This record gives sequence, structure tokens and C-alpha cells, in this order.
Amino acid sequence: MLSEEDAWSIALKIHGLAEVGSREYESSKLLVETLRTEGFSVTSEYMGIPTAFRAEKRLGEGPTVCFLAEYDALPGVGHACGHNVIAAAAILAAVKAAARLKAGRIVVIGTPDEEGSGEWSGSKILLAEKGAFSDIDFVLMTHPGDGWSLGSPSLAVQDLEVTFSGVAAHEAASPEKGVSALDAAILTYTAVNMLRQHVRRDANVVIHGVIREGGKASNVTPDKAVLVYGLRSSDVDYLKQLIMRFRLIVQGCALATNAAYSIRNIGPMYSTTKFNYPLIEYAQNVLKELGVVPKDYKETTNSIPRGSTDFANISQLLPALEITCKIAPEGTPWHSEVSARAAASREAKEALQTVSEALARVAVRLVDDHDFAEKVKQDFRAHA
Ligand SMILES: [Zn+2]
Repeated sequence: MLSEEDAWSIALKIHGLAEVGSREYESSKLLVETLRTEGFSVTSEYMGIPTAFRAEKRLGEGPTVCFLAEYDALPGVGHACGHNVIAAAAILAAVKAAARLKAGRIVVIGTPDEEGSGEWSGSKILLAEKGAFSDIDFVLMTHPGDGWSLGSPSLAVQDLEVTFSGVAAHEAASPEKGVSALDAAILTYTAVNMLRQHVRRDANVVIHGVIREGGKASNVTPDKAVLVYGLRSSDVDYLKQLIMRFRLIVQGCALATNAAYSIRNIGPMYSTTKFNYPLIEYAQNVLKELGVVPKDYKETTNSIPRGSTDFANISQLLPALEITCKIAPEGTPWHSEVSARAAASREAKEALQTVSEALARVAVRLVDDHDFAEKVKQDFRAHA
């Protein structure tokens, strides 16, 4: 049976591979092979997504608990978000839970490209749309961080790409023939900056953008300019309104400069995380039993959301729990070289052992304790 040492060596291998989103071929293969060896029946290239997979083991009658695995790295900095630990924890927790259960079903779904690097960006949402979660009752996962906590809030986000098209011309000989796509881009960038001041303060709006392409030579009118933006908010409906405003800005700036434009969504919209309190409370107790004191969840759930995740969409779909495990000293900058080193550290190894045990215990209770499972479901229905 897969040991904690084996799981850690898988975490290190994935860390070394550092494959970016939608291209996690070797990492996915490693997880698939391990789960097959552990007696799970595995579908690779799940639902047409090359690096997704689904593994399952039926122990008997009863509910299905699903562990989510992520294994994508970040371009340039490798496993600076510690997704190698998520993958190892998911398979170790699944193996542990399956070994202890005489009922229910344990599933692991491998979900590529959480960071939004490629074609299958936000794959949890794509998988959910294809029905991957229709036969699942509960979802569990972990995510590494710089402290132990439960109930981390997240921002809804939509990434957008704007392309302006103009007309190239000689900037000295015939500037009147030119239409500058760069002008449209600069105007948009400025107008979006102005929008920032006039947004709801309680909606945690974050708008970040870059001009990715803006021309090649100063004496040629730029006929193509590309902007990439991320629009975020803790209110999904308000985010949709912001996207409308953003589109109008782009349209207006195109009109003002005589450029043509197109707007493309980069991946699906990530939602906000919905909390399941019975799951959070039980996991908090389990962590304490294991010698870890997580931050009081009431503080965490009420904190200002700072990041976004496609796990949020799954938490809106069915009862779900994410445990943040501590792999680095408090205050460690994330998505950095320091956090990338932390994802292969002794602290990460210890976190993997603790969090996989905690997740396994939660899964076992969900299958074995019918009243608890009902309470979890009821809580899900009770909250919007
Ligand atoms: Zn992450």
C-alpha cells in the first residue's frame, strides 16, 4: 500500500517535472499509474481533457467522496503554488480512506490547469459542465499556504483578452492613412484605471491588466495591440456588471480611435467559495487531534479574499471542503521562488502527512456516519 514516503517521493517528482497547466502529461501519468497499482479503476484523458483523470474504488453501498488533485506548475517559477503537494495529498488520502472503508466509493479526479496557463484552464469547471460531478456526493481537497486554516474565501474572476486591429502606415509619409491599435489600447488602459475609482467598495473589486502587444517599430502605425485583464470581485453578480462596463469601455475606445476590436474570455469564470460549516468544524477538530491548531475558521471565513480558484465553482455545486496546509513560514510570498522551494521542503512533507490523514478521516466519517453526512448536505442546501 502507498506509504507516506511513497507519496512524498511522488510530490517531489511532480515538483521536479514542474509542468505548466494543460501540459501536465508526465505528472498526470505518474498519478494514474500509482492509483492503478493501488487497485483503483482509472480513466485517463478524462472527459476529453488530455491531462485529466478519474480514479475510483467502490467499497460497497453508500455515498461517493471525491478527492481533487491539482498538479500544474507556474510558468517560470515552477511549483510556486505547491500543487505537487495537493496531488500527493489527494492520492494518499484516497488510498488511506479506501483501506479503512467497507462501504461507499472513493474517487480521485485529476483536474489540470488551475492557474489558467493553457487550453484547459479552469478544468474543474469544464469537467463539472460535462457532468463529472453528477455522481459525487462530497468533495475534499487541500491547498498549501503559509498557515493552517479552513474556510478560505475566494474572489470570482474572469480573465479577458482584448485585441485591437488598426491599419499600418508610414508614420511620417502618410500618417493620415494609419489607424493605431496602440492608441485604442492606451485609451482603454487609462479608461479602465478611471473605472477603478467608481466601483462598489464592499465588493472587493480587483482589476489588473497588461498591454501584451503594442507595435513593433516607432515609424509604423501599430496595426495590432493586445491587452490582457483579470477582473475580480467577491460578488459574482457585480463582477458580471463590471464585465459589461469593461466591454463598453473597449467599444468606446475602439470608436474613438477608429480601430476594430474583439474580446475573448480566457477560460471560464471562477466563482466565489461556498463554505460548508459542519465539514469545516469537523476538519478543525481532526486537525487538532493531529496536533495542528488551525486559525479560527470564523476569522478566516470573514477575511478579505485574496485569490481565486476553480474549486470555488465545485463548492457551489455540492458540499465541499478545502483545508489549507502549512508548508512555509507565515508571511512567505506566494507564487515566488521562496514558495517553490517550500513546496519541496521538510515542512511540506510533514504537512502532506497531516493533511492526507485529516482528509481521509473526514471521508471515512462522511461514509460511515449517516447523520453527519445528512447534516453536511442540509448545511449545503441552507446556504445560498
Ligand atoms: Zn494554487
